[in-house]
Amino acid sequence: MFTAFLIKYAEIGVKGKNRYIFEDALVQQIKYAVKRCDGEFKVYRTEGRIYVEALSEFDFDEVVDNLKTVFGISGICPVVYVEDEGFEKLGEDVLKYIGEVYPEKDKTFKVCARRARKNYPLTSMEINSEMGGIILDNCPKMRVDVHKPDIMLHIEIREKIYIYSNIIPGPGGMPVGTGGKAMLLLSGGIDSPVAGYMIAKRGVKIDAVYFHAPPYTSERAKQKVVDLARLVSRYTGPIYLHVINFTDIQLYIYEKCPHDELTIIMRRYMMRIAEKIAQDTGCLGLITGESIGQVASQTMQSLAATNEVCTMPVYRPLIGFDKMEIVELSEKINTYETSILPYEDCCTIFVAKHPVTKPNLNIIKKHEENLEEKIAELVETALKNDELIIVR
Ligand code: ATP
Ligand code: MG
Repeated sequence: MFTAFLIKYAEIGVKGKNRYIFEDALVQQIKYAVKRCDGEFKVYRTEGRIYVEALSEFDFDEVVDNLKTVFGISGICPVVYVEDEGFEKLGEDVLKYIGEVYPEKDKTFKVCARRARKNYPLTSMEINSEMGGIILDNCPKMRVDVHKPDIMLHIEIREKIYIYSNIIPGPGGMPVGTGGKAMLLLSGGIDSPVAGYMIAKRGVKIDAVYFHAPPYTSERAKQKVVDLARLVSRYTGPIYLHVINFTDIQLYIYEKCPHDELTIIMRRYMMRIAEKIAQDTGCLGLITGESIGQVASQTMQSLAATNEVCTMPVYRPLIGFDKMEIVELSEKINTYETSILPYEDCCTIFVAKHPVTKPNLNIIKKHEENLEEKIAELVETALKNDELIIVR
């Protein structure tokens, strides 16, 4: 019965002059989302509202699921619209709507009319009370409750008349593309896909970099990262994934540095390389899935040591989250099942039994001097062999 959706957006409604930029971006992202669905749709903006109108048959659940991936949407309202053929006919339409959506007809309600077309013969107040009367007369078990109604029945008078009462929550946030771009360090784990999701939610477009170490890490481990990027791209739009071959750098560090510092020094090189790619591709920050104390390389001391190599801001949206909270989010965005597949990622192969948990920056830097002979060249080669995969 529903033939359209009214899209509610909260935060971007208050952005003054920037409002149009935000609304245009939101319309654009909604268009991408419905393109993935069967059927034909028109997405348009009118008087501070965005509508998705179906021009053909469509699958209601599929459309709602896809709209739920569009940041910036706070609510999705399935709408029935009818021609304006007089108030009496509208009364019949509203009763039909109630009969189909609330077949028990035993709810409390409030009518909330809005007259966007001012030449309609009744004012909003008049529509509210007249329509309330019609409903009460025809549905003996329904009652009016103006404070906390079960049903807020919206009637919007435009060229056509829109009826809706149900608001399905959207993901919130801001439309992707309104907040610049950042580079996500994407591993095959649970945390980094969630970190990317969280920053994208604030309107930031995401690129990603993955460090692999063939033959120590398998082709399947890489495929897993591509799959994770694809799952995240449902929310973020296409992701440019840079795959960097890290093997020679890793082996060289293994050869030249104390093994208990390997992870930290490796992480420092990952950050350096990620920052370089980020600078070259117009990103304004890096994103990682780190959270204080989760593992040895994420203590305050370790984070300080990895942070020290880059000047770009590093966004760590999970910094204060417990693992359980991160797992919950990854389940919500549907990356968990893929993240827990067992393939090795490049950090787990060479890890020491007892990695330093409180690295001393001066000592780390001292040991990095052991790498001076060849490291610049290795980094340059790794960057040159950057394999770009566009994931959508
Ligand atoms: P995740 O669950 O995201 O893998 P983790 O708990 O395994 O995180 P670490 O391995 O210490 O944590 O990595 C911390 C962060 O460093 C990751 O969240 C990710 O952003 C980045 N990172 C780690 N390994 C890689 C890699 N191979 N490629 C790209 N980024 C990586
Ligand atoms: Mg990991």
